[in-house]
Amino acid sequence: MPFKLFNTMSGEIEVLQPLQTGRVGMYTCGPTVHDQAHIGNLRTYLAEDLLRRHLEAHGLKVTQVMNITDVDDKIIEKASAAGSGLDDFTAPFMAAFFLDLERLNIQPAHHYPRATGYIKPMIELVQRLLDSGHAYSSEGSVYFRISSFPNYGRLTHLDTAGLKAGGSGRIDSDEYEAKETVRDFALWKAGAKGDLAAWDSPFGWGRPGWHLECSAMAMDKLGESLDLHCGGVDNKFPHHENEIAQSEAATGKTFVRHWFHPEHLLVASGKMAKSQRNFVTLTTLMERGHDPLAVRFLLLTGAHYRHKFQFKEDLLVEAEKDVERLAAFWKRCAQAASEHPLSEGAADPLIAVAQRAGRQFEAALDDDLNLPDAIAAAFDLLREGNRLLDKGLAGPEGAGAALASLRLVDSRLGVIERRAAVEEVLTDMEDDLLRRREQARRDRDYAASDRLRDELLAIGIQVEDTKDGTRWHRI
Ligand code: AMP
Ligand code: ZN
Repeated sequence: MPFKLFNTMSGEIEVLQPLQTGRVGMYTCGPTVHDQAHIGNLRTYLAEDLLRRHLEAHGLKVTQVMNITDVDDKIIEKASAAGSGLDDFTAPFMAAFFLDLERLNIQPAHHYPRATGYIKPMIELVQRLLDSGHAYSSEGSVYFRISSFPNYGRLTHLDTAGLKAGGSGRIDSDEYEAKETVRDFALWKAGAKGDLAAWDSPFGWGRPGWHLECSAMAMDKLGESLDLHCGGVDNKFPHHENEIAQSEAATGKTFVRHWFHPEHLLVASGKMAKSQRNFVTLTTLMERGHDPLAVRFLLLTGAHYRHKFQFKEDLLVEAEKDVERLAAFWKRCAQAASEHPLSEGAADPLIAVAQRAGRQFEAALDDDLNLPDAIAAAFDLLREGNRLLDKGLAGPEGAGAALASLRLVDSRLGVIERRAAVEEVLTDMEDDLLRRREQARRDRDYAASDRLRDELLAIGIQVEDTKDGTRWHRI
């Protein structure tokens, strides 16, 4: 089935059509490194990770670029307050960001351009816009002239006539007087030699505007027309509208063919945001004992990416159990796949069950990345697979087919194999209970053995007696 994905520009779910067959250039707006990423930011990066994994599962060769905003008003303000240089200030937040990606099993992008490393292409882009009359200088800054770009507002279907600057908190700090009209936005901000963040340019000392950096880095890495551009919904306006305006005004080409905007993560007080101080970081959740794979699972499957999702910490407890159940089933199938076959000629019903689950999983993802529906197919497989294996109705072929379908699931979900690979260790007390139960079985004291099985279950350990001996897993 072809993969269909909602495109913010058209407002339709449509087949993604890259410029070059078999290849996709994907740009994702990355972090502004003045603080740790919160799990709202991470929800957006996870949705983008799911998208990339699904494109790759369709055999497409994806080149992903994610920018790092390492210069902006907030960074300058905080670095000055801390008395540090720009790089010294941003380095720990950048390291924390990469650590979060690794903990969440987010595939690394192919390029992480940093704004401070791309000043030259940014200056060149500003110059092109000045030369073509789409930009003007004023008091040492350079602004984009929105009236020169009639298509402005196409992405968000804005009525540009009534448009006011300041649509998001972000633009306020980008605001400067001296503009021809209030909606024009800064491409280059006036500064002075010796400022914490200032570069020399044909238009004077200064620094780039935030929107400009994404256009310049995206086009530098992926060409003037991108297949796919991603960012959280708050990026649509003004950030992405401004990116479109300055890029298309400079090149005369369509800047982006397909726009992907995952919805926000909410908490009781509203949108999770650095400015609201209502945010939670992955590190905090880990310090409270949560597994990052449960965080990945919850943020990906809790709601469709185009729906808002209300985060509550206790949801992580259920997510943890789900991840563990999937990992236990994975291990069970891997083990069963290597056991004796069913009796000669017996059809293994798990094969058809596994294949159907695989098809349902793919179909749901092909329909605008509907992971909540897709994951239901994986749990149907888990339940039916466990039932058939419990009754001895499924054998190694069925288990092998189930494992193959689980591999498909996990190539997008990204939690099962990692979790299954974690070496499970018993505490001394658990080990003692298990040993005593095995002894009771050897002594044929089934009453004691059953009682010990219940005791183990009560502390979250399920024991299973198979013809190859006793196995256990956590539930
Ligand atoms: P920032 O570091 O503020 O530039 O944001 C990085 C990314 O996180 C952007 O794509 C934002 O749109 C996204 N984002 C910010 N807040 C949230 C939230 N509460 N839920 C989901 N994504 C968010
Ligand atoms: Zn951006």
